[in-house]
Order: sequence, then C-alpha cells, then structure tokens
Amino acid sequence: MGRGTYIRANRKRNTGDFRSLSIYDLTQTGQSSFSWSRGGTVIAQISIFVAPESCVFGYTTTDRLGNKRVVDQTIFIDRTPCHYGGQRKWFLCRCGRRVTRLFLTSAVVACRHCLNLNYSSQIESPLDNLWRRRDKVLDKLGGDVNRTHIKPKHMQSRTWARLHYEYNHAMIQALGGAIQEIEKAQRLWPAPGRRSS
Ligand SMILES: [Zn+2]
Repeated sequence: MGRGTYIRANRKRNTGDFRSLSIYDLTQTGQSSFSWSRGGTVIAQISIFVAPESCVFGYTTTDRLGNKRVVDQTIFIDRTPCHYGGQRKWFLCRCGRRVTRLFLTSAVVACRHCLNLNYSSQIESPLDNLWRRRDKVLDKLGGDVNRTHIKPKHMQSRTWARLHYEYNHAMIQALGGAIQEIEKAQRLWPAPGRRSS
C-alpha cells in the first residue's frame, strides 16, 4: 500500500495492525481493488464499489483460529468546496466526521478517531506520536507518500510549499525516532559472535 514500510508495519501493531485506504487512493487512482502483500505474498485483498455519493467496502478477514468474518459496509462520500475552485472529497465516517483516511479492521471500516476510542486503553508511544503527526500533514497533502512532492491540483502553491516542508520535517522526526529505537534494540541484542571481536 505504499505506506507499508518495515518501520510502519511494526508501529501499527500497537493499535491492532490495521490496513487503511485514503480517499486519494480511491478517487484519484480509479482503482477499485486493492491488495497488501508481505514478502511477495498477497495477505489481504479488498474490492470497493465506488458510486458518486458513496462507496461499498467488501472484504473477508480470517482470524488466527481460521474463523472468517465478512465486512460489508457503505461509506458515504462528502464534498466541500475548495478555496480556489473544485471540490474536495472526503469519507464520511459513521461517527459523522469527514476524514481522508479509513482503517480496515476485522469488524468495521472506521476513522482514526473511532478506533482510538476503541483502543484508548493502549498508550501511544512517543514514536507513534511522531508518525501520527506525520500522518496529519500527509492527509492534508492527499494521503499518498509517493506524491508529497506534487502539488494537489486545487492547492495554493504557498500552502503546498509550507505543507511540503512540514511533511519533510515530520518525516525526519519520525524516522529519527525509528532509528533510535532500532539502535536501542541493536544494543540490547548485539549480533551473535561479535562480542569478542
Ligand atoms: Zn469515525
């Protein structure tokens, strides 16, 4: 899914390892089928029926015991006018919030806010915090890590330049935090056989 880096996948485990889709994935790419792979094997697949005012998420999940569960959920698409013409599209989450990204769990398709409520007992690590700050800017830029260097069509150049800078800054912070965690792990678990050299 483009965002599925090693670091990111590990961080997501804290809040349940959700896959997610942005409104950008859906409306800009024209794709209606998405899949996620790990080590070259497809581990999840989803088909989405997209209509002008709504989209239907349909997928089946399998838990560790092999029990299958079908998720079939309609999400409405909302529009707000852009300052400089055109319209911005949003997912209208079941909580009523306009969001650019939805998370796909084994039971429901919902926004970060909804899922944070469900998982409020889990405390976010400082690194999670840094990634969340990164995600916030990323959402404003359209939600695609591979396109942060391209100005969204209806965004003012100055606004984009500022957000692009903020994004890179947030990225440096988050990656810095991730490197620190990896280094910590390396100190705790040095390479076997290296100790004597
Ligand atoms: Zn929600």
